Amino acid sequence: HIFEVMIYVDNSADYDQPWKCIDNIKVIQEIVKKSGMRCTITAEPTIETHNKEIKDAVRRPPAKASDCVPRHPVVTIMGHVDHGKTTLLDSLRHTRVVDGEFGGITQHIGAFEVCLDNGEMITFLDTPGHAAFTAMRSRGAHVTDIVVLVVAADDGVMEQTRESIRLANEAKVPIIVAINKVDKREADIARTKNMLMAQGLVLEEAGGDVQTVAVSALKGTGLQELIETINTQATLLDLKADPKGLVEATVIESRTDPFRGKLSTAIIQRGTLRKGSIVVAGTAWAKVRSMFDDQGKPIQQAPPSTPVEIVGWKDLPSAGDEIFEVETERRAHEVISFRQSLKSKEKLDDDLVVIQQKVEEHLKDYKVKLGEKQRMGRMRYKIRGIRPRATKEISAGPKLSIIIKGDVDGSVEALLDVLDSYQSEKCTLDLIHYGVGPITESDIKLAEPFNAIVYAFNTGVAQPNVRQLAKSHKVQIKDYNIIYRLFDDLRSEMEKLLPPTE
Ligand code: GDP
Repeated sequence: HIFEVMIYVDNSADYDQPWKCIDNIKVIQEIVKKSGMRCTITAEPTIETHNKEIKDAVRRPPAKASDCVPRHPVVTIMGHVDHGKTTLLDSLRHTRVVDGEFGGITQHIGAFEVCLDNGEMITFLDTPGHAAFTAMRSRGAHVTDIVVLVVAADDGVMEQTRESIRLANEAKVPIIVAINKVDKREADIARTKNMLMAQGLVLEEAGGDVQTVAVSALKGTGLQELIETINTQATLLDLKADPKGLVEATVIESRTDPFRGKLSTAIIQRGTLRKGSIVVAGTAWAKVRSMFDDQGKPIQQAPPSTPVEIVGWKDLPSAGDEIFEVETERRAHEVISFRQSLKSKEKLDDDLVVIQQKVEEHLKDYKVKLGEKQRMGRMRYKIRGIRPRATKEISAGPKLSIIIKGDVDGSVEALLDVLDSYQSEKCTLDLIHYGVGPITESDIKLAEPFNAIVYAFNTGVAQPNVRQLAKSHKVQIKDYNIIYRLFDDLRSEMEKLLPPTE
C-alpha cells in the first residue's frame, strides 16, 4: 500500500525561530519516506519572507554613482616565502616615517597608510602572504584593489608566486610586480621577467598591462617608483565610494588589548565611521567608543579606504567579517539574535544528518534482524527435522517423502525455494528433513520409516558405511550436482507414484 501523508504546519508560534518547524518537518518527512509512504508537506510561506526581511535590512542597495567620491587604493602584498614581503612592508612604513609627517612609532594594527608627495594616499594591508588574502576571500570580502607581487630576482618564480597569481586572477585584482633583491649579485631581472611571462602575466614591455618595478626592499631602492606605479594603477581603476550613510567595512584583524579591551582593525568601504556609531560584524556588535589610526592617534571619523582601529566591541569579530552600521542598539541585537539562530539552524541541519543516519542504521539493523529471524525459523524446522511449509497435503493422492542435504547454506536455500514453488495436483511432496553437510546415519534412520528418498546435492556421505546402511535399510541415496537434474528426478519419482494414464 502507498499511503499519502499530508503534514500541515502552522509556524506562527515559531515566528522568530522558523527553522524549528522546518527541521521537524524534515525529520518527519525522512522517516515517512523511509517507511515507503508518500509524503507531502505544506507549510506557511511566512518563513522565507521573514528571513529575507532581516537579512536585507543590513545590506543596502549599491550606492548611486552621483553619490560617490574618489577613494585611495587598498593594496595587499603577496609572494613566495622569503622573497621579501615583510621587509618591503617595513620599508614602505619607514618611507612614511622618514617623510617626517608622522614621526611616531608605528604600531601594528593590520594595515597602514602611506602618503605620497602630492597628498595621495595608499593603504597597505600589513599581513603579508596569501593566507590572509584567502581568509578574506573565503568570507566573500573584497578589500584589496591591487596586489603587489614580490618576486626575488635571485630566485625567480616559485610555488607561492604561482599561487598568488592564481588567487589575484580569481579575485580579478590587478597585479603589480615588485622584482625584489636587485641589490644581490645573483639577481637576474630578465630571467625573472621571462618566468613571469611564462605564468601568463603579460608585462608592460611586451604590450601588456602588468607593470614591473625593480626594488631592493632591504636597501630601500625603487620604493618611490613602486608607490608611484601603484598610484597610477589606482587612477586607472577610478576607485570611488559613497562617504555618506550607514557604514560598510571589513574586519582585517582582531585582538584583545589588556588596557583597551576588544579591538578590531577595519577598512572602511562605504560611509564614514564616527564615534558612537553602532555596528555589527558576524554575531558581534559594538558601540564605537573610540577610534585610532595606524599611528595610534585618536581620530573622530574614518572615511572610505581608511584603516581604523575600533574600540567598543562586546565580542571579537573575525578577520574577513563584514561590518554593517545599524541605526539603533535594538536593531543590532535583533540582527545578531537572527544570525545566532541561523547558526543554530546550521547545527540543526547537522543534527538532521545524524538523525537520518540513525534512521538508516536502524532500518539496516532491522533488515539484518529480520533475515536472522527467517534463518532462525528455518533452523527451528531443521532441529525438528520437519519443514511443514513444503508439505502440501492432498488427501487422496500418493505422497513422496524426501530428505535434502546440500554442501552449503546457499545451495540448500536454493533447493528449498524451488521446492516451495513446486506444485503437483496429484502428488504430495513431503520434505521431512533438510540440512547442510554430508549424509549421516541418522538421516538414513529418519528416512526409513517414511520410505523417503535422500537427495545429496554436491555432498556425499559422512562415512562409507552410510551407503551400506542405506542399502540394508532400503533407503535410496541420490547424488546430484545440478539443481534441474535433481528436480527432473524428483518429478519422475513422483510420476512413478501416480497411476498410469491411458
Ligand atoms: P618574506 O618571507 O617574504 O616576508 O621575506 P622577508 O621579508 O622575511 O625576507 C627574507 C630574507 O630576505 C630576509 O633575510 C631579508 O633580509 C632578505 N631580503 C628581503 N629583501 C631583500 C632585498 O631587497 N635584498 C636583499 N639582499 N635581501 C633582502
